[in-house]
Amino acid sequence: MKLSYHPYQLKLKHPFKLAYGTRTSTDIVLVELNHEGHTGYGEASLPPYLAERIESVIAFLDMIDASRLDPFRFSETVLYLDEVEPGNNAAKAAIDIALHDLLGKMENKTLAKLMSIPTSGPVQSSYTIGMSTQEELKTKLIEASEYPIIKLKLGGNNDKELVEAYLEQATKPYCVDVNQGWEDSHYALEMAAWLSEHGCLFIEQPMPTGMIEETSLLTEVSSIPIIVDESVRRLDDLASLKGVCNGINIKLMKCAGIFEAVRMIEEARKMEFQVLIGCMAESSCAVTAAANLAPLADWADLDGPALINNDPFRGVRMVDGNMILPSGPGLGLEKVVFK
Ligand code: MG
Repeated sequence: MKLSYHPYQLKLKHPFKLAYGTRTSTDIVLVELNHEGHTGYGEASLPPYLAERIESVIAFLDMIDASRLDPFRFSETVLYLDEVEPGNNAAKAAIDIALHDLLGKMENKTLAKLMSIPTSGPVQSSYTIGMSTQEELKTKLIEASEYPIIKLKLGGNNDKELVEAYLEQATKPYCVDVNQGWEDSHYALEMAAWLSEHGCLFIEQPMPTGMIEETSLLTEVSSIPIIVDESVRRLDDLASLKGVCNGINIKLMKCAGIFEAVRMIEEARKMEFQVLIGCMAESSCAVTAAANLAPLADWADLDGPALINNDPFRGVRMVDGNMILPSGPGLGLEKVVFK
């Protein structure tokens, strides 16, 4: 088994504005695993509000003994990666994704087939619109035309205006992501009631991760689901969320990859949680991996490739509002060469 990697920078089509700040690009590290003539592709995406950076991913990958990465023994491989160093979840996800892609190619099966994930029925994804002016919103809605659900980023000082502007211009179902932006419980309660009267599907991460009691109260009184994102990373975090929320946003970059994501979905179902499968700003590599898991979730928010203009891969595609997976084997990715 040979492990190699190279850093890459995803360029965002529009500056992405949310409660944390604004950015125009996202660093990623692309990983390749080569074994018996096959190549598996993986990706670590590194948004600035999380701790990992290109240097930390490379330092972690440099510590890996590739002979310990076994596509036929995922449990042992995940344990090994956690033993090397805690954290580094995006770096671990890159290895996990590459290993699944590699296994699919070795077995000549799609990822869904390898993991016995149903592929029947349409799987739709939402499209995220960062905080925008009226004019920007118009342009972004045109770009989102293939997507059946819109996710609006809230948490600034004009939440109602943003939603009202959306409702004036669009009729598609929508949800909101506050990215921890509501620090005032009274305001959060008022907004949740207002959003439910205005047709919102669910509210993602309304309050800071530390406001656990306040989030529990909001969940109790809100008539639309409260989904947490920043409050949950890996499987071990789930137990503390009982009664806190109605559902969780699982992202491969937070949970160290496909192997653990599937276990989180199983555990979430036992807890009667709704499941959203989401992504960071990611290329078609990691998003195609996540899209394979979408039939197991209630919602998918996998618009990463649609928000960038230098995707290094072709993978999952949007057709008439549905995500269409490549025919494999593995993730079925096609490398794009930029001239
Ligand atoms: Mg979110």
